[in-house]
Amino acid sequence: MRYEWLDDYLMQKRAVTKDLQPVWNWIRYHVGGRMFAAVCLDNRNRPYYINLKLDPEEGAFLRGQYKDIIPGYYSDKVHWNSINPDGEVPDDLLRDLLDKSWSLVLAGFSKKRQREILGLTCCGTECKTCSFYGENCDGCNECRGKVFHAPEGKACPIYACCVQKHRYVNCGACEMLPCDIWRAVRDPALSEEEFERSVEIRIRNLSGGVKNGI
Ligand code: SF4
Ligand code: SF4
Repeated sequence: MRYEWLDDYLMQKRAVTKDLQPVWNWIRYHVGGRMFAAVCLDNRNRPYYINLKLDPEEGAFLRGQYKDIIPGYYSDKVHWNSINPDGEVPDDLLRDLLDKSWSLVLAGFSKKRQREILGLTCCGTECKTCSFYGENCDGCNECRGKVFHAPEGKACPIYACCVQKHRYVNCGACEMLPCDIWRAVRDPALSEEEFERSVEIRIRNLSGGVKNGI
């Protein structure tokens, strides 16, 4: 296979796991337990197809543009596509298609579940790394934004805007990011520099589903 970067690329995406389906001899990549890509191996463990999911119209268009993209082998042929691992599909295009497949499969879950799968709050924080987690707070996803530092009886202003008003999965979907609400909601213990760094990390966490803002 000429796309030697593929496994590393997929495994550094947020919330991705993989396994080997022994009967088919497919390496399957999952998000939230659902497959979004697979490398199909022959009986000598050489890849013969890369399978991924696309919007049906885009899949049909690309099949017309590239002889190395065909309807999904051993899959639903409307949504799934198979790519020749030794063909001429450009690397950048394949990366883009893998990203789209990941996003499409993730989008099949409820928005709350998507935040759980990503392990991020709507503002891009990894609750499990927060010193308050488990002590003062179970995470804003659990308490619908009514975290201990929110105004009495109300949701955190970021949660109220992102989840309740705009119905986004997270602020990564918003072109205002980082907005004035982000600037106003801050841990008073952080210095200016620490706060700016936290904004930077959270924006990276929210971008493109990549782990640890790489
Ligand atoms: S304060 Fe609560 S919601 Fe905010 S990051 Fe910490 S655990 Fe998550
Ligand atoms: S304006 Fe956008 S970035 Fe700001 S809190 Fe609302 S959804 Fe998030």
